[in-house]
Amino acid sequence: MIDPFGRAISYLRVSVTDRCDLRCVYCMSEDMNFLPKPELLTLEELERLCGAFIRLGTDKIRITGGEPLVRRDVMTLFRGLGSRIGNGLRELTLTSNGTQLTRYAQDLYAAGVRRVNVSLDTLDPALFSSITRWGKMEKTLEGIYAAKDAGLAIKINAVALKGVNEDGLDDMVAWCGEHGFDLCLIETMPLGEIDGHRADQYLPLSQVRARLRRSWTLEETEYRTGGPARYFTVAQTGGRIGFITPMTHNFCESCNRVRLTCTGTLYMCLGQDDAADFRPLLRSGASDDELDAAIHAAIARKPKGHDFIIDRRENAPSVSRHMSVTGG
Ligand code: SAM
Ligand code: SF4
Repeated sequence: MIDPFGRAISYLRVSVTDRCDLRCVYCMSEDMNFLPKPELLTLEELERLCGAFIRLGTDKIRITGGEPLVRRDVMTLFRGLGSRIGNGLRELTLTSNGTQLTRYAQDLYAAGVRRVNVSLDTLDPALFSSITRWGKMEKTLEGIYAAKDAGLAIKINAVALKGVNEDGLDDMVAWCGEHGFDLCLIETMPLGEIDGHRADQYLPLSQVRARLRRSWTLEETEYRTGGPARYFTVAQTGGRIGFITPMTHNFCESCNRVRLTCTGTLYMCLGQDDAADFRPLLRSGASDDELDAAIHAAIARKPKGHDFIIDRRENAPSVSRHMSVTGG
């Protein structure tokens, strides 16, 4: 699948639920209204739709959310998609907050998953509880270590938050180096209403990188995942560190992905509202050919990029839907 800007679209992210057992301050408000269950695609419908994408050339699928591992029976989907690895699909992976990994790490490995991204913004237990509003860091750490023991490669995602976790990022670099985890730092993006002001959270990663350079030697690498991150090697640990800078850089020229929500809506860009709704098609008995044609039509509308702005005077998000809906 090639979009109008010549980009090959080979990567699908699937948000299997908008629900979560945490309420990270940059992601959600404390009182969230979640989707009613009947609006969600069933796991069978999700698998069929993913199958159509694989048929059309998608070779990497990331399962995300919300927290994907809180969706009931989600391992059925992992097993179903895992059976396509080597048969169209090259990689099946997930992004998780880690709270359920102790329970699922081995099953994920058995299903064919080899890498997992886990979100962890701090190594300070009290700060972790305040960022996630009620999470227990111990549970996430146990999940991360269980995933490591199960043989999964781990990348830690941390959102850089001004005046919140910035002082602890050196510790994160050291800890990731010690355990052989990649680290990816992310700028907060104006997606969905949260309590408080985005401008108060926003910390440009250019500042973070300059500060990390006081303690660490960051060597540029050519490593790319087709996504927005720029990667460096930390000379002292040998670990890899990525910087995702949607607010300070336009990262869209190499974009290879589209995102499917748990209701069957396909967003061709995280930062734009245009979407294609596959649920009516799936529920009206569309044939495989009709599904394929609808996917091609959606890819033909993929926009060039996003227009994120964080404006101190105006707290309206650039995009009204939360990251947990579109899938991170
Ligand atoms: N619950 C899982 C987790 O936390 O990893 C998967 C979904 S979460 C929405 C995916 C990623 O998006 C996480 O790494 C999270 O930190 C990030 N994220 C959420 N809201 C964000 C925002 N407004 N700006 C930047 N990153 C955000
Ligand atoms: Fe939940 Fe992930 Fe959003 Fe945190 S970032 S509230 S863990 S979906």
